[in-house]
Amino acid sequence: MEAECVVADDAEELFDASETFKKSALLSSREQYAALYKNSVDDPDGFWSHTASQFFWKSKWEESKAHTENLDVRKGEIRVEWFKGGCTNICYNAVDRHVEAGRGDDVALLWEGNDPGFDMKLTYKELLDRVCQLSNYLLAVGIKKGDTVAIYMPMLLELPIAMLACARIGAVHSVVFAGFSAESLAQRILDCKPKVLLTTSGVKRGPKLIKLKEIVDDALNRCVQEGGHSVDYCLTYDNKLAIKREDTPWKEKRDVWWQDVVPNYPTDCPVEWVDAEDPLFLLYTSGSTGKPKGVLHTTGGYMVYTATTFKHAFDYHDGDVYWCTADCGWITGHSYVTYGPLLNKATVLIFEGVPNYPDAGRCWEIVDKYHVTIFYTAPTAIRALMRSGDEPVKRHSRKSLRVLGSVGEPINPSAWRWYFEVVGDSRCPIADTWWQTETGGFMITPLPGCWPLKPGSATLPFFGVQPAVVDENGKELDGECTGFLCMKASWPGIFRSLYGDHARYETTYFAPFKGFYFSGDGCRRDKDGYYWLTGRVDDVINVSGHRIGTAEVESALVAHPLAAEAAVVGIDHEVKGQGIYAFVTLNEGVEYTADLKSSLISTVRCQIGAFAAPDAIHWAPGLPKTRSGKIMRRILRKIASKQLDDLGDISTLADPGVVAQLIEFTEK
Ligand code: ATP
Ligand code: MG
Repeated sequence: MEAECVVADDAEELFDASETFKKSALLSSREQYAALYKNSVDDPDGFWSHTASQFFWKSKWEESKAHTENLDVRKGEIRVEWFKGGCTNICYNAVDRHVEAGRGDDVALLWEGNDPGFDMKLTYKELLDRVCQLSNYLLAVGIKKGDTVAIYMPMLLELPIAMLACARIGAVHSVVFAGFSAESLAQRILDCKPKVLLTTSGVKRGPKLIKLKEIVDDALNRCVQEGGHSVDYCLTYDNKLAIKREDTPWKEKRDVWWQDVVPNYPTDCPVEWVDAEDPLFLLYTSGSTGKPKGVLHTTGGYMVYTATTFKHAFDYHDGDVYWCTADCGWITGHSYVTYGPLLNKATVLIFEGVPNYPDAGRCWEIVDKYHVTIFYTAPTAIRALMRSGDEPVKRHSRKSLRVLGSVGEPINPSAWRWYFEVVGDSRCPIADTWWQTETGGFMITPLPGCWPLKPGSATLPFFGVQPAVVDENGKELDGECTGFLCMKASWPGIFRSLYGDHARYETTYFAPFKGFYFSGDGCRRDKDGYYWLTGRVDDVINVSGHRIGTAEVESALVAHPLAAEAAVVGIDHEVKGQGIYAFVTLNEGVEYTADLKSSLISTVRCQIGAFAAPDAIHWAPGLPKTRSGKIMRRILRKIASKQLDDLGDISTLADPGVVAQLIEFTEK
């Protein structure tokens, strides 16, 4: 059966914010933005010096020379510096500054546990006390400015506290997502050789208990055996809600219970003033494309950039209650759970659990419980929630919501619309924020209220961000175009190196297109100057000379009302060079039939064109994803081409079991 085209997806549909929203927005017109943007690129030193002066600096940089940079490999070493010579401390700016301004009683962190009914909160003053006690502990065990501290913790209040405590004393934190295996944790510990590891006995994630300390012990043993490295101390938070002390493996002397020592330290601790270019943290990328990269961020530029992007992309106002579902183990949790919001004195909700536990309505129950005004999540979560239908959403009021956000992957227009119409009741602008671990903060993002949104487009560059779309020869393209997304100049939040491997930094990001920072992503710029991310360029499929981004075909597939999620990859094709092989997950309860396959193929044919029609559809009960929720297409390519003995590194997969399921489903 050749089905009708089911949905006509009008990508050019515009969604403007209401007049009420605009009236109270920080910025409310594209003209206002354009003037500020022009200033930010004509005079970056002036623009960013002015922005940076809203923070506390012990001593200032030379204002006329806020930055120096070389992004051109032909001109020597790649180097970027912002506010060099300026002395500050990001913990002081994120916490002490607000307490000193008399806002110590405002709530800094709200905590919602995995199981409903468990919650806590900390005011800014309480947060400061906790941070200082931990800083004092770290100092007491010999941690000094510049030393690395590894953190392997779930979403407890102690996780942002740990990050801030390191920053306070100038130590460099390296947070490893607490869903990683012992092997992955060991690799990361061996890379940065910390003296101290901060961790937790265990955690409940949804219905599952994860015995973190067992994983830690395994990882620490591997570190000794494989790299001859041992940590002096392993400070372990006793998470009584998950596991008992006596069930936690223990090594005397090395292991210390957090609650037994940290509260005994004083609640004040002097701040270590650091240079703006001193390292703040290192963090590994998600590993969607292969071996994770140890991204190094420094202090001053990162501070100014995350705070400013947070404020504008979410139209942040005093009193907002902000919830980002990302884990602090990812860059989103660094920049937009911890630093960006706290630098703005926001009230931040930390959620220990998962969006669909105990049921698909949990997120909206939490939104109502805390009157969340800004909600920021990932397309993978939106698609999963959408799969369970509208009822779990509509059961809750959600009337406090004002702004929604998305990050991690291109958001398919159909998911965008559901998020906008069902979750946000067509009232809340969506900030579809395109950025990377490497960029530190948002690069291309709507500023809610400033210009109309188009579902699926990250819209326009943030202040100071100068995108260039280049062709395969590295020539910058004008106007409407499609190509490789690069940046022409630095911005304060750009990473300064890959930890211990500056050569890899240069070859990965600056050598492919001379004179530019290369993001690795493809994009299209439309007639209004809006940017549309088309996926990673390594994933681009070339069908009879047409270069097709994965995002476009996947969005067409999920526009089908019965499809929940899709991932496409290229396979060898005798005639076309490459053919399109699509993996599709259907909505809950829908039967996988041959008719549905044809209907899906027709949908792509009429939305994009016959050239993009998938050659094969492979039913997918689930898709392989990184632990941060991104689809890992390199594994799908192997399954599609039946190279099953050569799947490559699958250690960063969230659920390796999905692979076997997919292989089994091949014949259906
Ligand atoms: P690795 O670099 O190790 O392969 P990763 O790229 O997944 O991992 P991150 O830095 O967490 O690691 O993710 C950044 C990437 O996520 C971007 O390069 C882009 O491909 C994708 N991305 C993030 N936000 C968006 C968005 N709003 N729209 C489209 N793509 C996005
Ligand atoms: Mg990447």
